Amino acid sequence: MSGGGERGYARREGGAGPGGSGIDLDRRPRFPVPKGWKRPSRRRVRAIRDRLRELYGSRRNDPHGDPVHELVLTILSQNTNDNNRDVAYRRLRDRLGSWDAIRDAPTDEVIEAIRPGGLANIKGPRIQQVLHELGPEADLEWLREAPRKEAVDYLTSLPGVGRKTAACVMIFALDRPEVPVDTHVHRVGGRLGLFPPGISLEGAHDEMLAITDREDAYELHMNLIEHGRRICRPRPRCGECALARMCVARRAGLVSPVGGASGRVPSG
Ligand code: SF4
Repeated sequence: MSGGGERGYARREGGAGPGGSGIDLDRRPRFPVPKGWKRPSRRRVRAIRDRLRELYGSRRNDPHGDPVHELVLTILSQNTNDNNRDVAYRRLRDRLGSWDAIRDAPTDEVIEAIRPGGLANIKGPRIQQVLHELGPEADLEWLREAPRKEAVDYLTSLPGVGRKTAACVMIFALDRPEVPVDTHVHRVGGRLGLFPPGISLEGAHDEMLAITDREDAYELHMNLIEHGRRICRPRPRCGECALARMCVARRAGLVSPVGGASGRVPSG
């Protein structure tokens, strides 16, 4: 979902939260917190980061600096894989060229160009609507220095743009601290107790920001995805999981791992 490449970021927002380098957000939860759930300490989040780092390595962001590119790419990524998304993006740019040309092209041509990315009838008009909203210059450079809330509020005001897309634009293009929460991050993070069970994707974005050191946001995002793809799948392989002792869901018996309660994964 991330658009490929190793990426890292530097903090631009002022103020450090508890722990010295936290992202400066209102730490009060903005969603109903189920009884019994307690926000994890920074120490615990860092311990999870370290364990994931041992497994999948330390990741560095490499922001590409083009927020409009990331915005369109992320719209194209909805409900498809990275390969199909990239094919759709390349065809769109090869066939129609500039953002102006894409915005003003007959919608049928945009739809046809992005067809390999799926949901073309929805994504084509949406991309054009967003480009219209951006105005004649299609310029989002101002997001680089804007206050974070203003930047996120603007992005999420665009047609069909939610928190995940906004977070992708902020971190992958502009090097600004966000933790995009996709289905992997949502599933794995929930099982590890990073946010309350049943929390919405939107709420999970706020919560991840509140608990993550800014310099760890990219790495945590990437490594939680990696863990979700390899081990903590919808049907998790808890018997192979190096985070099992830290896992709230496993301890509470809330998951049905491959291999049953013993977690022994059948060979072959
Ligand atoms: S112990 Fe199981 S549920 Fe918990 S993180 Fe590991 S694979 Fe996921």
